[in-house]
Amino acid sequence: MEIEEKILKLIKSRKKGILQSELWKKAEIDRRKCSRVVEKLEHEGKILREQETSKGTRTYRIRLAEKIEKEKVRDFKLLLVKDMFAPCTGCALECIPEQCMPLSEWVFHLIEEK
Ligand code: SF4
Repeated sequence: MEIEEKILKLIKSRKKGILQSELWKKAEIDRRKCSRVVEKLEHEGKILREQETSKGTRTYRIRLAEKIEKEKVRDFKLLLVKDMFAPCTGCALECIPEQCMPLSEWVFHLIEEK
């Protein structure tokens, strides 16, 4: 199995991605090679890395880019009720939630939909 495929498979196997400090061990390759492959995959847009600290050491959490995109779409759908987008998104009005008609209307639709 080619090393890139092996690494992608390992990343895919974890719901929350995998730490780079763990990935090279699981892939049974040295840390530098792992780093090069991960950088290449990131450059190709196949994965995304976020800095994270594990056991006092800085590393990266690596996740599949397509998985993150799907999650974003799912999250986006949560903001839609019927055809109405959550009114607070990008709102520039002076905010008094208890008196806000757009928010009340959106919550009403949300309750209605359930
Ligand atoms: S509650 Fe109303 S005023 Fe406040 S951010 Fe949401 S939509 Fe805007």
